[in-house]
Amino acid sequence: MRSQDYDRIYLSPPHLGRHELNYLHKAVEDNWVAPAGPNLKGFEQDICQYTGAAHAVALTSGTAAIHLGLRLLGVGPGDEVLCPSFTFVATANPILYLGATPVFVDSEPTTWNLGPTLLRTAIEDRLRLGRKPKALILVHLYGMPAQLTELLAIAAEYDIPVLEDAAEALGSRYQGRLLGTFGDVGVFSFNGNKILTTSGGGVLITNNADYAQRALHLATQAKDPAAHYQHSEVGYNYRLSNLLAGIGRGQMELIEDRVKKRREIFSWYQEKLRDIPGLRFAPTEPAGSRSNRWLSTVLLDPAATPITPEQLRQHLETRNIESRPLWKPLHLQPLFAEAPMYGGAVCANLFARGLCLPSGSSLTDEDLIRVAEAVCEVLSTAS
Ligand SMILES: *Cc1c(COP(=O)(O)O)cnc(C)c1O
Repeated sequence: MRSQDYDRIYLSPPHLGRHELNYLHKAVEDNWVAPAGPNLKGFEQDICQYTGAAHAVALTSGTAAIHLGLRLLGVGPGDEVLCPSFTFVATANPILYLGATPVFVDSEPTTWNLGPTLLRTAIEDRLRLGRKPKALILVHLYGMPAQLTELLAIAAEYDIPVLEDAAEALGSRYQGRLLGTFGDVGVFSFNGNKILTTSGGGVLITNNADYAQRALHLATQAKDPAAHYQHSEVGYNYRLSNLLAGIGRGQMELIEDRVKKRREIFSWYQEKLRDIPGLRFAPTEPAGSRSNRWLSTVLLDPAATPITPEQLRQHLETRNIESRPLWKPLHLQPLFAEAPMYGGAVCANLFARGLCLPSGSSLTDEDLIRVAEAVCEVLSTAS
């Protein structure tokens, strides 16, 4: 990546360590690039050991894991699934794959995640319409834990199963416990931009042995137990390769280092840029929550600076620094124009005011200084 454009600072590039190659080397040496092999088993064990989950199934992507997870929870054609609007489209696309409808819910201002008050409103309104939601997807956006105690209590009260989309939140903790382990099913992504990567991959975790077995079955073309390839239901080709799982094993050794580094980057920016008018680092961690700070996100206050996030982004681009707007809320996407939505002003406002700064764990001190200087250039002088 750097060899093509050594000067560019990327948003969140892959960051390999020392041991990925050992696992890859062993797989090639043993001629074990397929089928499922020791790296795959090892990667899944690493995930279980780290998170404390009883079962892990390694898949081709986080999106695949959400798709399978929703199937495990019984989502099918005509069902409704509660989902935050403020998230990446991959959270909601699998709802459409299954012929179901997303019911979007706005964010709370504190964590930026789906909040308890509006969740209850949405559930009660759907019940009034005679449409009990089949599942609830919770997302920990940019690594910040959602208010799980309250949210899970409401889900339990109405008997709605929970899929925890922790794609951005590997290594984040809520009351000391790692995210991904709170839902009936949890999902991690190992896409190239995430805190750890297998170049592309995902993991489904659960404490339910039947779910784990069924996820594996569905991920490998849903073969019935017969030598002659017999099938009774639709399956998928979603299993991660033994090679990529080797990269995952090397990456899992580094998780705590990577969390530490991303958190340091957030604190560094916050400290260095604290006196810039109109610039605020958000969201802040509620007591008991510890974000992995996957991306360092800022909000610009239009009352205090005339500079918009898009102007800041374009200025950083002139310095060869990549930054990105926050996720565009899904209820504002043409794809989901017909979907029900509860609230909407909070996430629309965050989208209008926010920006993600370079946050990769491979950023050097010089890189960070360059970013901070570029931010100052445009924001300190404007008034
Ligand atoms: C990255 C991401 C996903 C999808 O993961 P892939 O591995 O890219 O398929 C799902 N949800 C959220 C919130 C994400 O950020």
